[in-house]
Amino acid sequence: MKNIKVAVSGACGRMGKTAIEAVNADPALDLSGLIDINEIGASYYGIKVTNEIKQTNFREKTDVLIEFTHPKSVFENIKKALSENLHCVVGTTGLAEAQLKEIEKMALDKNLGVLIAPNFAIGAVLMMKFAQIAAKYMKSAEIIELHHDKKADSPSGTALLTAKMICENIKPQIKNPDIINLGGVRGGIMKGAGGGEVNVHSLRLPGLVAHQEVIFGDIGQTLTIRHDSLSRESFMPGVVMAVKEIVKRKGLIIGLENIMEGF
Ligand code: NAP
Repeated sequence: MKNIKVAVSGACGRMGKTAIEAVNADPALDLSGLIDINEIGASYYGIKVTNEIKQTNFREKTDVLIEFTHPKSVFENIKKALSENLHCVVGTTGLAEAQLKEIEKMALDKNLGVLIAPNFAIGAVLMMKFAQIAAKYMKSAEIIELHHDKKADSPSGTALLTAKMICENIKPQIKNPDIINLGGVRGGIMKGAGGGEVNVHSLRLPGLVAHQEVIFGDIGQTLTIRHDSLSRESFMPGVVMAVKEIVKRKGLIIGLENIMEGF
């Protein structure tokens, strides 16, 4: 079978560089293009970094774009990739609902697949699923997400999705009035349609990669579900899985769990 040709957008960033290594290490994938606004003209594995998502800038006709750039540029990059007939595997978080709708329509019109995952680490996907189940049985939950200090958006896309999944299941609570002596100290509050709510707290510190704790409380007990990405390699099996699957799909898929077998 023909290898899948893959370009990486945000190629010179932390995730992009790790993705280049993952693509290069997989015998079923060929690295064919690199895009970044930095290091233009630099070369990795014989592929030059260019500043535009364009088939004619790639070494050969490319099937999939991996996107790890910035919340400010991801939407335009996906639209550009679809117009260049590229399936997309997107890790950049921060897309708005209206943008997701536009991407879905464009992908369907072009007969292409777009997979957007706030977290490509299999353990993080399991952490979210376990939290969603626990929310049915425990009274209250709060989320603490911890990331490196260069992360652009807060809270993380993973925390937003986890909070949404918990809110669907958790029952509304009667809360005592708070006396707040420092603004924001109780975090951001995500409210579910059924009245359940979850406080989300974001920590940004050098030395961290990507971590999240979901702490449930009930009478006389707590349950803590924690996931730690200790290096960026943790995201790569999920990224590679998504690249191999998205070439067979059409439209928009949100979340790695939607392509994981038996999930
Ligand atoms: P990073 O180190 O800042 O890398 C991003 C790279 O993309 C930088 O070189 C950046 O240049 C470049 N860039 C910015 N705008 C661009 C554009 N329009 N076209 C091409 N390149 C552009 O960031 P990172 O740590 O790799 O993270 C990238 C994204 O992935 C973030 O949104 C992060 O939250 C997300 N992420 C997702 C997962 C997941 O599993 N889904 C895991 C980790 C991270 P400048 O430095 O000049 O801006």
